[in-house]
Amino acid sequence: MTQSYITKVYENLTAKYPHEKEYLQAVKEFFHAIAPVVEAHPEYEQLAILERIVEPERIISFRVPWVDDQGQVQVNRGYRVQFSSLNGPYKGGLRFHPTVNQSILKFLGFEQIFKNMLTGLPIGGGKGGADFDPKGKSDVEVMRFCQSFMTELSKHVGPDVDVPAGDIGVGGREIGYLLGQYKRLQGPMAGVLTGKPVAANGSKGRTEATGYGLVYFLNEMLKEAGQTMTGKKVMISGSGNVAFFAAKKVTELGGIVVTMSDSNHAIFNPNGINLDAIEELKVNGRERISRYQEFDAEAEIVEGSVWDLDVKADIALPCATQNEINQAQAERLVKNAIKMVAEGANMPSESDAIEVYRKNQIHYGPGKAANAGGVAVSALEMSQNSMRLKWTSERVDQELQQIMKNIFAQCVKARDTYDLGVDYGAAADIASFEQVAELMMIHGVI
Ligand code: GLU
Repeated sequence: MTQSYITKVYENLTAKYPHEKEYLQAVKEFFHAIAPVVEAHPEYEQLAILERIVEPERIISFRVPWVDDQGQVQVNRGYRVQFSSLNGPYKGGLRFHPTVNQSILKFLGFEQIFKNMLTGLPIGGGKGGADFDPKGKSDVEVMRFCQSFMTELSKHVGPDVDVPAGDIGVGGREIGYLLGQYKRLQGPMAGVLTGKPVAANGSKGRTEATGYGLVYFLNEMLKEAGQTMTGKKVMISGSGNVAFFAAKKVTELGGIVVTMSDSNHAIFNPNGINLDAIEELKVNGRERISRYQEFDAEAEIVEGSVWDLDVKADIALPCATQNEINQAQAERLVKNAIKMVAEGANMPSESDAIEVYRKNQIHYGPGKAANAGGVAVSALEMSQNSMRLKWTSERVDQELQQIMKNIFAQCVKARDTYDLGVDYGAAADIASFEQVAELMMIHGVI
């Protein structure tokens, strides 16, 4: 009966948005996880809880014209998906990447609702971005693009309404230009964006927060399994903000980071990646990781994905992008003795890969829970901006550690209630869904 409610809603969604592959994938995985909760609440069907949860409150979609360095006019598509305001202002990042489309932003916005709920802070869910590729663009081109993008977006956001931040392709530089343009149009409200440079009233520790938070979450998974990070070999994909600070924290806690990557190459050193080199190439510079061997002659560099390497390791931290691990790659991880996967990226594992984790009792920390440290510190940045105060790095880090512990505790509780073993993925979905459903009941039919 209930199963047929879930199936009906999912089939209608598929018929309505047949081309939104990533969005349908995120909803399907989520529905699968929450089935036992829906089963226990037959009243949800009459209240159309699921139908409402999968429809964004609003999607804003707009033209972004700008002039490149050759004087050529370029046009991109910009979006903001304001998915849910049940728990506070829409909150979530902006992604600038050529693959951006409505499906990707809906999947990200959908997951953001539940991730934000797990942080325990008062933030709703949203996501935005554009199919603009900052790669290879000059600084001034990026500025012109950001100014044009914000000219339209400024009509829809505000410190108490919708607070964007960074994501892939949007870091401190882009946030700075977006903030400047917002101020020209609407006035000096720094709280409209988070992930601001610290000098521009950003929070200390925001840059590090997603990567550090991921490792704090992983550390809880290890503790629960009676283990520590000491001596653990850790495969990381990516070399952006999330990957780099995750790698730093793993190393600080005594683990050994054996791989990293960018969109074209993977690097491998069984004795540990040289993080100073990564910082110089990828964090400070905008270089390709293929230059890494200049700093580390021992390292192996191969074209393609980290997940195609045959590397013996204990833990995998996918920190690159969605759907970076497929079924065959997940099977390779199992074969190579990986026991834990914690996701720094959003939805990096395909559904078939998650199935492989489940079948093999891989301890699975989903992005929704494990990478929530970034948006959590964004919410702390909002608080500091509202209070006109600036916290120390130590204070922010303490809060972050506590938040990640609390998220893990919510997962453990749902895991125990629903007998989910080491599948913290289904547990995170259940824990957050219960809170969202309760908020929906409180607010009436909206
Ligand atoms: N883009 C990040 C995420 O996926 C952070 C969003 C934010 O800080 O608002 O959660």
